[in-house]
Amino acid sequence: MTTIFGKIIRGEIACDKVFENDYVFAFKDISPQAPVHILIVPKKEIPDLQSLHREDWRFLSEIVACAQHLAKELSLENGYRLVTNNGPEAGQSVSHLHFHLIGGKRLSDTLG
Ligand code: 5GP
Repeated sequence: MTTIFGKIIRGEIACDKVFENDYVFAFKDISPQAPVHILIVPKKEIPDLQSLHREDWRFLSEIVACAQHLAKELSLENGYRLVTNNGPEAGQSVSHLHFHLIGGKRLSDTLG
């Protein structure tokens, strides 16, 4: 089922795009939690990390490569976080796998 992120990838909804290749699409979060807050999503509509199959692992490696590229480009050499929320108890609000690339400030010591 398509979500708001599917519509963003297809250009049906505007976004502030920062990176795109055959596998991934990255854009600024509409409600940033830090000076750098980018969402990196696979172009395939995979609902969440838990439902990612082995045949789709290429998407995961491309997400990591995209995060490394953006971290370098955005000078996040002092640190950054790459996180995904899986499911409602973790706070996932959009059912299209996405990773938050967060940085540009001293981040909270707590994760849970
Ligand atoms: P989640 O809570 O599912 O882990 O993360 C969803 C993220 O998507 C949130 O940080 C939220 O701010 C962001 N978001 C939701 N709708 C839009 C939108 O239309 N455009 C952009 N750029 N970000 C969105």
